Amino acid sequence: MVQHSTPKFGFLIDMDGVLYRGTDLINGADRFVRELRDRDIPFRFLTNNSQRTRRDVVARLVRLGLDVEEEHVFTSAMATARFLAQQKPGGTAFVIGEGGLLTALHQHGYAIVDHDPDYVVVGEGRTFNLELVEVAVRMILGGAKLIATNMDPNCPTQNGLRPGCGALVALLETATGVKAFSVGKPSPVMMRAARKELGLTTDQTTMVGDTMETDILGGVQLGFHTVLVLSGGTKHEDLPRYTYSPETVVPSLAELTDLLDANDWQPPWRQARMRVPARV
Ligand SMILES: [Mg+2]
Repeated sequence: MVQHSTPKFGFLIDMDGVLYRGTDLINGADRFVRELRDRDIPFRFLTNNSQRTRRDVVARLVRLGLDVEEEHVFTSAMATARFLAQQKPGGTAFVIGEGGLLTALHQHGYAIVDHDPDYVVVGEGRTFNLELVEVAVRMILGGAKLIATNMDPNCPTQNGLRPGCGALVALLETATGVKAFSVGKPSPVMMRAARKELGLTTDQTTMVGDTMETDILGGVQLGFHTVLVLSGGTKHEDLPRYTYSPETVVPSLAELTDLLDANDWQPPWRQARMRVPARV
């Protein structure tokens, strides 16, 4: 029997602005994911949002109509917990954040404490208040290390932008004079961990995202192949502002699927170059 050899390549896929905007699935996202699964192409959804657990994220994606499982999700909360467990196994953390981050830290052997923690860990959430900030500031000045799940300045919501983890971290940094260590995209800590989850090499990995400062910068720094989709926060006319560029630019996952279809789903980097639309 002739075995079809599965091409060795895979995708790291950002979620917000790539798969969905608010509660709306973006055109072509479901077809792209279905094709990946049908063809046994490894992929992980990569999100800097540390608010939700893996299971919460899957529930949301399934509700949007995507056929995915927990193993397909990799959040900055998971990357942060894994990183801290490597740095200091069995440590303690004071957390400004929500379920996704607390669960990940517990799963990696961390105790959540209110006094004298090894780390102050900051994620997304809406439970943030000035009392927590005061406590965190004193802990950091007392020697606790400041960890950010990510430095995204803001997050898109249906009602417009809300302050992101990076904005909250900036408050702590300014108050203490201590710089945070950030784990989420574009940090190589999260990008490399995600690539290892795929079980692929750098050259076999393609990062797909809508944000230049995180998805594309991280991909470029790690040496991954990069695809920018214009279905999220970045417009075509923004690109000249950046010192780095994505290898490929497409309006959305729908057109990326078409491009890959036209090339029999061979790794995109084997093409001469995927076409950048002149104007989108
Ligand atoms: Mg995004």
